[in-house]
Amino acid sequence: MTLSTYHDTLETIGNTPLVEVTRLDTGPCRLFLKLENQNPGGSIKDRIGKSMIEAAERDGKLQPGGTIIEATAGNTGLGLALVAAQKGYKLVLVVPDKMAQEKIFHLRALGVEVILTRSDVGKGHPEYYQDMALKIAEERGAFFVNQFENPANPYAHESTTGPEIWEQMGHDMDAMVCGVGSGGTITGLARFFGKTGANVEMVLADPEGSILANYVETGEISEDVGSWVVEGIGEDFLPSICDLTPVRKAYSIPDKEALLTARDLLAKEGILGGSSTGTLLAAALRYCREQTEPKRVVTLVCDSGNKYLSKMYNDYWMLDQGFLERPVAGDLRDLIS
Ligand code: PMP
Repeated sequence: MTLSTYHDTLETIGNTPLVEVTRLDTGPCRLFLKLENQNPGGSIKDRIGKSMIEAAERDGKLQPGGTIIEATAGNTGLGLALVAAQKGYKLVLVVPDKMAQEKIFHLRALGVEVILTRSDVGKGHPEYYQDMALKIAEERGAFFVNQFENPANPYAHESTTGPEIWEQMGHDMDAMVCGVGSGGTITGLARFFGKTGANVEMVLADPEGSILANYVETGEISEDVGSWVVEGIGEDFLPSICDLTPVRKAYSIPDKEALLTARDLLAKEGILGGSSTGTLLAAALRYCREQTEPKRVVTLVCDSGNKYLSKMYNDYWMLDQGFLERPVAGDLRDLIS
């Protein structure tokens, strides 16, 4: 009998399920979630880890046994680590020191050289993580991935995420709700849906404090950058690969709404998403409830919530942040409604 198995872990990246939201109020619409948390590295970024490394191999920027460098502690780091380990490359990641310990342990266990740098300095400072990665890449003759400028990032979504959603929706959908970290997802999906000619409305979900929602609405880059707790999305600049011209509608979502929405998703639908999932879902629900006609809407569960168990899924942390109110009796069971 032939085996119905995968050749290796890299083959299990993508082809994630699309699940309908049935226990949350979606107004007149039907809302579907692409479960990118089910990728082997736990996030949508496995797709670009694979596409950016394979593009560098094709372009001759990466030789067998070569060194790859990137500036991130986030999911891109994990995606790259997964692919680099399978393909025998050395991976160096420059990571801001505010990142969660678990992420760093996870990366080191995957064989990554993690270089910690200051998280309190901005672009142009020599210890800024992006600038430091570029310098180390030059010193070591390594391939600097730079997801913010790498065309293989949006291409991963144009060539895989988009076509998968389109097939799963039976070529019939009205809107796609995305966040922007590097802008790879929204740019690649907009390109793919543009090619279908189906007029899929691209909607931005942005954390309050990020400049991007305002940019979509006014075309201006604000100097007025706030801070937000949600991880992986929201920016203080417009990455060069990020094309927001097809995006007409944007929602600016406060942290509290995002995190409570993600908790609701777990409690009601049994899906453990990360914090950015909360922002995307909150925006998608607002969009759905505002519609006057039934529409078919898709958004993403970008990563798994297991990295955030001690934060957004921890009632004590939520209370400390002011995202949950403390009941008079102080009984935590009262909080889990
Ligand atoms: N959600 C999470 C959890 C992420 O890590 C990222 C990437 N930083 C995104 C969403 C946004 O994806 P993109 O970089 O494609 O804009």
